[in-house]
Amino acid sequence: MEKVSRRHCEIIEYTRSHKPVTRPLLAERLSASLPTISVAVRELLESEILVEDGYLKSSGGRRASLLELNPDFLHSLGLSVGMSGVRGVIADLSGRVIKERSLYFEVAPTRQDVLDALVGMTGFLLDGAERIPEGIGCGISGLVRQRDGVSIRFPYIDDWRDVPVAAILKEHFGLDAFVENDVNACTLAELRFGAGRGLHNFLYAFIGRGIGLGIVVGGDLYRGAGGNAGELGHIALCSDGLLCQCGNYGCLETVAGPESVVSQVRKAIESGAVSSIETGPGGEVAFMSVLEAAEAGDRLAENVVSRAAEHLGSALANMANLFDPEVIILGGLLANASDRILDTLRRVFDSGVLPSIAPDIELVVSRLGEVSGALGAAEVVFQNRLSALGS
Ligand SMILES: [Zn+2]
Repeated sequence: MEKVSRRHCEIIEYTRSHKPVTRPLLAERLSASLPTISVAVRELLESEILVEDGYLKSSGGRRASLLELNPDFLHSLGLSVGMSGVRGVIADLSGRVIKERSLYFEVAPTRQDVLDALVGMTGFLLDGAERIPEGIGCGISGLVRQRDGVSIRFPYIDDWRDVPVAAILKEHFGLDAFVENDVNACTLAELRFGAGRGLHNFLYAFIGRGIGLGIVVGGDLYRGAGGNAGELGHIALCSDGLLCQCGNYGCLETVAGPESVVSQVRKAIESGAVSSIETGPGGEVAFMSVLEAAEAGDRLAENVVSRAAEHLGSALANMANLFDPEVIILGGLLANASDRILDTLRRVFDSGVLPSIAPDIELVVSRLGEVSGALGAAEVVFQNRLSALGS
C-alpha cells in the first residue's frame, strides 16, 4: 500500500484492540458510512494488512465477514532483562511467539554481563529467523528514557548509568531498537494480548524483586511526565515505618516486597521462632521456600505472607479508589500465588475500595506467563511501526 490514510490507521488500531470485527461494526464505532469503511477495508485486504477469517454468526440476512490484522504483516523481536536473566522472543502481530529463548544469570550480573546477554540473545533469535523482525524492543528493570532508548538505572548494578541500550542493539544488528520499563512492557502485553485486551482502564500489579504498577488510561499506557510512573512499591504506608532502599520510610516494599518477607522470616528464625522453612548454611531464606511453607501451613510463613498480602490488598484498594479501573491484573510472582494468598488480598482489597467504585472491579491473574515482558517489548515495536504507517 503506497499511502496509509488516517482512516486506514483507525481501522488497524480498532482491529488490533477488538475481536470480532466486521465492516458494519467498524462503520458504527468509527462513525463512518459503510461504503467508506468497505473501500478502506478492501484496500487493506489487497495490501495484506487485513485478512478475512470466517463469518459472524447471524440469525438471518447476509453474514458479515470477520476481519483480523494479518499476523504476518509485522514480526518483532522482544527482550526482557532483569537481575535473574534475559528472555527473548520473536512474535507476530497477533502475539504468537514464533521463537523463544531464556538465559539465566548464575551469579549477580555485571553491566557487561547484561549487555553481552542482550546482544547474544538477539543474535540467537535472528539467526535463521524466517523473516527479519521490524525492530527490537527491550523491556528492562529500573528507570528508562523511551525517547532516546536509554536505560538510566538498573537495580543492583552500581555502574549502570545512562546506558544507550537501543543504540547498542541498533549498532550490532542494524535494526531500530526501543526500550521500555519492564513493568510497562508487561502491561502492554496484557493490553494487546492478555486480560486487558479491549479494556480502556486497567491496572497491572507486578511483584518481582520489587513491586510495580502499570497504568492504562483511556486505552493507552500512562507513563507520566518522566516516563516512569507506577512506583507502587514506594508509596508510603506509614511515616514511622522501616527505611526503604529508596531512602524513604514506610514504603509498601518494606512490608510487602519479597525481600521484606524474607528478611522478616529470617529475623524471626534467628530470634528462635519455630518454623519448617529450610534455611541455607548462613541462615539464608529463599522467598519461594517461604511461599511453599505458607502453603504447607507453617505458622510463621503463613503469618508473614498473609500480612504482606494484606498490605498489598490495601495498596491496590487505594489505587482502585484513585483510578477506578475496570480490572486489576496480577502479574509476576502474584500470578503464581496460592488461592489462600489471593483470598487474603481480595478480602482486604474489597473492604478498602469505596462503595462508589467497588462493584465492578475484578482482580484477575495474568495468564501470559513468563513470556509477558518480552512479548510486551515486542509490542513496543509494533506500536511504533503502526503509528508511523500514517505519517
Ligand atoms: Zn521506597
